[in-house]
Amino acid sequence: MAFSKLGLGKPLLDGVRAMGYVEPTPIQLRAIPLVLAGQDVIGSAQTGTGKTAAFGLPILSLLGAHAPGPRALILEPTRELAAQVETAVRDLARFTNLRVAVVYGGVGYGLQDQALRTGVDVLVATPGRLLDHLSRGTCRLDKIKFLVLDEADRMLDMGFLPDVRRLVERCPRERHTSLFSATIPPQIETLIQWAMHAPQTVEIGVRRAPAETVRHALYPVAEAQKSALLLDLLQRVNYDSVIVFCRTKNRADRVSHSLRHHNHAVTVLHSNRTQREREQALRGFRDGKYEVLVATDIAARGLDILDVSHVVNYDVPQHPEDYVHRIGRTGRAQATGDALTLMVAEDAQHVHAIERFIGRKIERVRLEGFPYQYTALFDESKPGQVPLHQRRARGARISGGYYYGPARRRR
Ligand code: AMP
Repeated sequence: MAFSKLGLGKPLLDGVRAMGYVEPTPIQLRAIPLVLAGQDVIGSAQTGTGKTAAFGLPILSLLGAHAPGPRALILEPTRELAAQVETAVRDLARFTNLRVAVVYGGVGYGLQDQALRTGVDVLVATPGRLLDHLSRGTCRLDKIKFLVLDEADRMLDMGFLPDVRRLVERCPRERHTSLFSATIPPQIETLIQWAMHAPQTVEIGVRRAPAETVRHALYPVAEAQKSALLLDLLQRVNYDSVIVFCRTKNRADRVSHSLRHHNHAVTVLHSNRTQREREQALRGFRDGKYEVLVATDIAARGLDILDVSHVVNYDVPQHPEDYVHRIGRTGRAQATGDALTLMVAEDAQHVHAIERFIGRKIERVRLEGFPYQYTALFDESKPGQVPLHQRRARGARISGGYYYGPARRRR
């Protein structure tokens, strides 16, 4: 099926061609006709499936030509995603006279005010900064005809749903709404019922499956040897570009220092860095100045970084969905990529949750020649390797460092 059969206007077909897209992706095939027909759409598709064009193309097509606005609003959870989506939509709209702008926090208001003043058709925004613009009177939403709530589950995780609700309330009721979310927890379900009208769901493939072209491997290791194992892995793996995910900003900083010390071209991306530093890190990584990007989940989610040959989970993600999101960076657009995960004994429960979530077992790999301190790590069935939390009394629960189980017996 060709793009030309989908009912998009000619300038958009020219835009698609200029982007080098030959055929629509499955989510584009299914979502574009629905949006063009005026339906509200819920899209659940893994990252890298082409969902930006899936909502961007029909909205641009229906907007037609420049008019007072903004008439389309796309909400994104992070600045990086907002910037990325704006670039993609602007590229698709290049043969139209539609204007696209982005507003997000962490930078001055000057350029954003100016863009809003000159007139915008499509506005891409993070919720907090857009609310600021509304209260400063630099933007209004009373002409919105198309609303897109992108990465809704991540907006929920980041505590943005109240802001999103406030923004939806400022849009006209008579509008078209699309929502994209990898998972639909109850709060998102409530949002859907409140903000959408008879939505059609477009689900692509198995919702939970990571890209099929990714090879997965788990590297069991003692916490104290993680850093050494990462260095050894990077020496042996023939990588072009690699993203290393860490649980916290501190760990990301520590890992990047260690890699830099060992002469890797490395940069770091997390929310403690200024907007300028984050942009420089991303640009440098995309341009190949840096081969390794060390990042936390929030900073890197959904970013369209192409040609990542490897993803390394320095820390096992706490939520199975994050595993899928993280490795969504590799194996995009049918390239093959590797996802390597370092695992300590205490991670066993999270690893099993991930394996259940993606519906397959991940191979445990031993790095030949690495001076392992504990080889028992490779045999999860050995009693010595049962993680601490599984050894506690039945019913006992650790929460926030406190022990809520039955009173401990003295020995
Ligand atoms: P997204 O899921 O929107 O982040 O898109 C992921 C990547 O796929 C981006 O680099 C897009 O430019 C690319 N892409 C989107 N649609 C197509 C298509 N029909 N053919 C080839 N690449 C595409």
